[in-house]
This record gives sequence, C-alpha cells and structure tokens, in this order.
Amino acid sequence: MPGKIKRPCSYPRCPELIESGTYCTKHAKAKDQQRGNSYQRGYNHKWRAARERYLRHNPECVHCEELREITAATVVDHIIPHKGDKRLFWDRNNWQPLCKLHHDIKTAKEDGGFGN
Ligand SMILES: [Zn+2]
Ligand SMILES: [Zn+2]
Repeated sequence: MPGKIKRPCSYPRCPELIESGTYCTKHAKAKDQQRGNSYQRGYNHKWRAARERYLRHNPECVHCEELREITAATVVDHIIPHKGDKRLFWDRNNWQPLCKLHHDIKTAKEDGGFGN
C-alpha cells in the first residue's frame, strides 16, 4: 500500500516535503508573521476607514489649493514619513489630503530623487 503522496513546500527552493497544506511548518509560520507585520504597520481596515472619513472632510488636495486649483484628493499623505511609527501614523496633524499627482511627486522625492 503506497504511503501518502507528499508535495514540496510552495516556498521557492524549499526542499521540505509536506502531506497537506501549502507550506512546510517553518514557512507557514513565516507567512503568518508577514501578515502580522503588514497589520502592525497599520495598513488594515481600520486605516482604510479612517482614510475614507478623512477624505470626506478634506476632499481637496492641499498642494493644488496652494496653486489655486481644486483637485479631488485621493490619498491621505503622512507629512512626516511615519516609517512604521504608530504615533506618527495615526496623528491626524500629520495627515494631509493629496491628489495622486502630488503624492507621487512627494514619494519620488522621499525615495531620494532630489534631482541633483
Ligand atoms: Zn518550506
Ligand atoms: Zn494636487
């Protein structure tokens, strides 16, 4: 009688053979932790709800407003990059509504593209 057919773990290049599930014990745990981390960074349903509420009250891009233009904001930007800091992340004084264009410009600058 043949034993249970084992399949390789779905993690790239993992040699582990498993009888059920997708990942070996080690990688199943690693996957769980990844989920935990993105939750800890704050990008979850709580953030999405807060973001929507904020944009409803602050519907216009602040940078466009400075240029005397009215553009619908689609992004809640963190004025000071939170880099995982929960206090900065949830501090509404650190939020500003931006349109996608202005958010992209800001992100590009933060990524080191100061254009020198
Ligand atoms: Zn594995
Ligand atoms: Zn704008």
